[in-house]
Amino acid sequence: MKGLMQDWPLLVPTVLDHACTYHGTREVISRTVEGPIHRYTYIDLNRRSRKIASALQKMGVKPGDILGTMAWNGYRHMEIWYGLMGLGGIVHTLNPRLFADQLIYIINHAEDRYLFLDLTFVPVIEAIQDRLDTIKGFIIMTDDEHMPETTLENVLCYETLIEQGDEDFSWPKLDENTACGLCYTSGTTGNPKGVLYSHRSNVLHAMATNAADALGLKSQDNVMAVVPMFHANAWSLVFSGPMAGANMVMPGALMDGASIYEMLEVGRVSLTAAVPTVWLMLLTYLKETGKKLDFLERVVIGGSACPPSMLEVFEKTYDTQVIHAWGMTEMSPLGSLCTIKGGLENLKVSEKAAIKIKQGRPPYTVEMKITDDDGNELARDGKAFGHLMVRGPGVARSYLKQEDEPILDEDGWFDTGDVSTLDGFGYMQITDRAKDVIKSGGEWISTIELENLAVGHDDVTEAAVIGVAHPKWDERPLLVIVRTEGSSLSGEEIRAYLQGKIAKWWLPDDVVFVEEIPHTATGKIHKLTLREQFKDYTLPNV
Ligand code: ADP
Repeated sequence: MKGLMQDWPLLVPTVLDHACTYHGTREVISRTVEGPIHRYTYIDLNRRSRKIASALQKMGVKPGDILGTMAWNGYRHMEIWYGLMGLGGIVHTLNPRLFADQLIYIINHAEDRYLFLDLTFVPVIEAIQDRLDTIKGFIIMTDDEHMPETTLENVLCYETLIEQGDEDFSWPKLDENTACGLCYTSGTTGNPKGVLYSHRSNVLHAMATNAADALGLKSQDNVMAVVPMFHANAWSLVFSGPMAGANMVMPGALMDGASIYEMLEVGRVSLTAAVPTVWLMLLTYLKETGKKLDFLERVVIGGSACPPSMLEVFEKTYDTQVIHAWGMTEMSPLGSLCTIKGGLENLKVSEKAAIKIKQGRPPYTVEMKITDDDGNELARDGKAFGHLMVRGPGVARSYLKQEDEPILDEDGWFDTGDVSTLDGFGYMQITDRAKDVIKSGGEWISTIELENLAVGHDDVTEAAVIGVAHPKWDERPLLVIVRTEGSSLSGEEIRAYLQGKIAKWWLPDDVVFVEEIPHTATGKIHKLTLREQFKDYTLPNV
């Protein structure tokens, strides 16, 4: 027997309708590429999202069409998301940090029809426009006054285009499983793979990750999405913020410590989210200037492991709660968030600290387990570590145009490619990416744990650990360090610092100092390039 309740499809524009009706005067505050800080309300966002949807429809854009955006976080980018998704189209966010060849590949692979570009990225696309096969035109996200000279063909000005749209445009009635967003994983091996989100997956993911024990956004919050909209859905903040009626702060192009600090103050930001690299820049700025975080209550840190030293500085020096989070593009992207759960309030401070540094617990809708190489489930005892497998309505079931290549096992589990533990309380801790873990004498060494400890040293700005060949042990850890300016830290000093903090046999066999550690387009340490860089390296004890 079926239930007798309404069939109310979970569609992205319903989020905007809700924000507009019940929190219409809450604001979106954006740093524009043109310079000034722009403010408007959810009522304005709703009006302009409908206008751009209508204008795109008049231009011939149809449901199912994929349009690319190469843009910073800002109000126009939000309008395009809501407008195009509401129209039944698909927003393909392009990461401007990708190499030209990767960009060309994904634009052609997705068959993008138009590209929306912030002024910053006009030269990036000019350089590759001859190799884009399916693009019919470019929409530059600015007003008439700021339109640049460009060699791009078929160029439109965003503000001119939006004026042609109708603000009474009604959203078409879509099936909730309709595709609405496309984001390619950066693909450190092989070609990037397209993850195609649906209205349903986006709405469910935003609701689930906004539970009180997870992001817990509320209408009193001022939320700054530093994590870019081109990086895995901006961790859903562009949906969960309006859903909660929170003010949104969109920092635009500037990510340095001073600029981020300015936006935190201007927007009286209470919650923000980004990768550790961004927070490192902010903390350096705060230390140099002696400034305090006046409004910031919570900071979400994910994308790479949050080092314990960073957590400690935020919580002790600035009284800002850290929420460590883990996820991936294939998971919409949030898979776990770390907050102390009921029943654990009375743990000792040190015990709580040990939990807080883990990647957290899955919200409702994410299932998790760990398995050995043969697929057997491992104990949830906080010690056993294995392949982290996930399942849920926000997890991809195949990649775009690769539907015949299964990515789930027969029970529907997706292998994240990460290695982790799960403890008896339900907290998950990543020890490594499966391909980065160091196998020494048949045992595994966690590169993340070594890196976390190394960056806890005052003289270390960034640390990376890779495995290098060893005739007896197969692989041994090599620690690569970027020293803080002016430091003369030696290999022996850092090894002595690590001693006693880890099992003896985890101690890196050697330490090398470099000017810079390579990063991926999403700001993670590029282990593949690093391993390539050190492929001829021989350990001193070999
Ligand atoms: P890409 O692979 O394109 O850089 P993703 O955002 O999909 O982009 O990367 C997901 C991966 O990032 C995860 O599988 C995991 O290895 C890593 N990751 C994300 N958050 C954390 C975290 N808090 N701690 C450790 N690793 C993390």
